[in-house]
Amino acid sequence: MSDHNDRELGMKRNITRRDFLNGVAVTAGATLMPWHLLAADDSDPQKSPAYYPPALTGLRGSHPGSFDAAHSLRDGTFWDAAGTPQDTGETYDLIIVGGGISGLSAAHFYRKAAGANARILILDNHDDFGGHAKRNEFRVSNRTLIGYGGTYSIESPEPYSAVAKSVIEELGIDVTSFPKYLDRNLYGSMGRVPKIFFDKETFGSEKLVDDPCPFPGGETYDLAVAGPNAWANFMAEAPIAELARKDVSRLCREKKDYLPQLNAEQKKARLARISYAQFLTELAGVHGDVIRLYQTISQTLFGVGIEAIAALDAAETGYPGFSGMGTEPAALSNERSYFFHFPDGNASIARLLVRNLIPEAIPGNSATDVVTAKANYAKLDERTSPVRIRLNSTAVRVKHAGDPARATDVEIAYARGGKVYTAKSKNCILACWHVVIPYICEELPQKQRDALASAQKVPLLYSNVLLRNSAAFQKLGANSIYAPGGYHTHVDMDLPVSIGEYRCPRAQDEPLVVHMSKAPCRAGLPARDQHSLGRIELYSTTFETIERKIREQLARTLGPGGFDPARDIMAITVNRWPHGYAYEYSSLWDKFVLEGGETPCEIARKPYGRITIANSDAGAYAYTDEAINQAWRAVGELTKS
Ligand SMILES: Cc1cc2nc3c(=O)[nH]c(=O)nc-3n(C[C@H](O)[C@H](O)[C@H](O)COP(=O)(O)OP(=O)(O)OC[C@H]3O[C@@H](n4cnc5c(N)ncnc54)[C@H](O)[C@@H]3O)c2cc1C
Repeated sequence: MSDHNDRELGMKRNITRRDFLNGVAVTAGATLMPWHLLAADDSDPQKSPAYYPPALTGLRGSHPGSFDAAHSLRDGTFWDAAGTPQDTGETYDLIIVGGGISGLSAAHFYRKAAGANARILILDNHDDFGGHAKRNEFRVSNRTLIGYGGTYSIESPEPYSAVAKSVIEELGIDVTSFPKYLDRNLYGSMGRVPKIFFDKETFGSEKLVDDPCPFPGGETYDLAVAGPNAWANFMAEAPIAELARKDVSRLCREKKDYLPQLNAEQKKARLARISYAQFLTELAGVHGDVIRLYQTISQTLFGVGIEAIAALDAAETGYPGFSGMGTEPAALSNERSYFFHFPDGNASIARLLVRNLIPEAIPGNSATDVVTAKANYAKLDERTSPVRIRLNSTAVRVKHAGDPARATDVEIAYARGGKVYTAKSKNCILACWHVVIPYICEELPQKQRDALASAQKVPLLYSNVLLRNSAAFQKLGANSIYAPGGYHTHVDMDLPVSIGEYRCPRAQDEPLVVHMSKAPCRAGLPARDQHSLGRIELYSTTFETIERKIREQLARTLGPGGFDPARDIMAITVNRWPHGYAYEYSSLWDKFVLEGGETPCEIARKPYGRITIANSDAGAYAYTDEAINQAWRAVGELTKS
């Protein structure tokens, strides 16, 4: 419950209009922009010069208007009110459903195989391209600050494949050059270190304490280095039992084998069958306060708490307690050696792909100038261009024209601006979320549709908050805050990356974008049930509620540093992803992981006539390289004959 009333929190401030705060002007766009009002003609809002989704604040990600057609298809009501589809008369070599990194990569690969004149249409239900690779912009005075609304960085526990690497290289991204753009010492030199916020509801008293042992989950990569006095501060100040503090020290600092009687293979088999919470309680024998402390460390990475992730996954992620077990995470070193973070995350990859496909849409010619390049959305869907990207367009029916084994065409119907249109194509790639496919492509075999339907995604909330300055963070000596009991479990300053013309905020009096993340879930239930309930929660929570949570959390956490939410919060963009990460199989919840056999994603991604299937769901792996790998496979299946 809140200790603050709405006035103190600044809930009444109209942060979404042009506003002046202590001499700083912020243009934060408009919430719920009615695009049809901008349209030159009402079927093509993208053509309006005012159409610029990255600058919108309020509820983004799966924004209002993006999912209504798909949900009404799911509910069986769509065709009752849809009317007769209008034939656009358009024909293509390839229509791609889904304009995320997988769909855009599919267009890239197809052009390489079929030639630059191949005619391609990409449909996406959102008002922006990129899918989870989402750019948020904030205008403050004469400056644009950039945030990531989804996919954060090039990184992967598995090495990037040759195919995925070649795309990154063709786009001009030199991953090895990343250290040049990152001011690695900035936060450390300013005395800002990772902290833990202990809240009184969970821990009995409220305190910001040094995090002596920061773990993957926050977004600060290898800047998540504990402060020089972190252990002393934690041992003296953390409001948990003394035994629990000692347990944390043991888990993080001692090399101890909690299964000495087993060899390495037996250990892995055991750890695959118990949860991380069980490992900590039953094998490491920690105090209950340690579980309270670590319960949510895994949420933003796995979508669930430590009671629902396998201990083996925890070990491979680098969570505490495994350093003496011989289960060291080889994968982590890979994740760190192939890493690149743009200020808008992997939205820069999406933008570079779009530039490659439709050069007029994004000016410039390098992977560094793309950071500040302003996309021209009017150029995305030009009749004269071989590649077209049509936004605000939900595919609602994908069907071969005749027998799939012999048909020469696929007909795609899509909903846009309250109407349904059709277009024809020789080939179709479904690069959209797999749970949607059974509803739009009913001709697929039932077994495949069931497998597709099982790819329930992991819900996530990525909120970007524009702050007037970072004075409170400076006073408290914080750059990232893990909040085990918080609505958002992580509050992070972005990595200080300056690239191309973009300069990241450095001084404490400069405005900055703070990133807050959350994975809605229900501890104690099987993982998929947790994700379903989290998805419902995200769809049914209003922006106002999330705004209040953000203001309360920042007020409580940063208040002792002089933070005033009513004064210091200038804009909020909430990227809600009810369908977030691809579901990754878990040895705790998915029998086939231990027993072997064909996995659901292998069944789901089988080609069918002239239709093939991409998306990171097709590899059950929530990473950009997988989105690219699956696009490569899907294009290969169409072009191999
Ligand atoms: C919050 C978040 C953070 C992430 N962070 C990282 C990270 O740091 N690094 C990393 O490698 N990966 C990360 N991922 C994983 C990320 O999903 C992948 O990296 C990749 O961006 C997925 O691309 P995709 O094209 O497969 O899917 P998506 O990006 O989801 O694109 C699919 C598109 O299809 C659209 N679509 C669905 N149905 C229809 C329809 N019927 N008609 C038209 N369009 C439709 C969707 O709306 C979406 O726009 C993150 C994911 C999320 C959600």
